[in-house]
Amino acid sequence: MNKITNKRTITGWIFSKKKINQVINDLEIKYPVFIKFPNIIAAHLSPVQGTHDFKNSCHIIEVNPLIGKNRGSEVLWHELCHALQVKMFPKYSDYLEAYCSAGGNFFEPGYKDNIFEIEAREFEKNHEELCLTTYWR
Ligand SMILES: [Zn+2]
Repeated sequence: MNKITNKRTITGWIFSKKKINQVINDLEIKYPVFIKFPNIIAAHLSPVQGTHDFKNSCHIIEVNPLIGKNRGSEVLWHELCHALQVKMFPKYSDYLEAYCSAGGNFFEPGYKDNIFEIEAREFEKNHEELCLTTYWR
């Protein structure tokens, strides 16, 4: 069962739960997906817009709430691509090993050319017309 935060950002956007659950289903992502915001101090301190992690057989996605509504959707698509990439490997540790040898994470020099990041950026662009965020009302 996926878990998607109901919280509203300072600028008033939220995740469109119904659409996101549909997308997760359509993508056939293996294991439940948890989508949340980092705490506000971490959000202010970090330049990172989104993260994907895998713990206790669940995908954990965090999206920085300080980015705009549309960028929030793009970042979520990007992180969902990482959740899909995990499926290509027998174990999460195999994925991490491949990811790291392809250039490493945000704070490492090879990040921009990391093939897993290139794929996630393309995935994000290919889905920009289906917005997964909305304004709270
Ligand atoms: Zn990424």
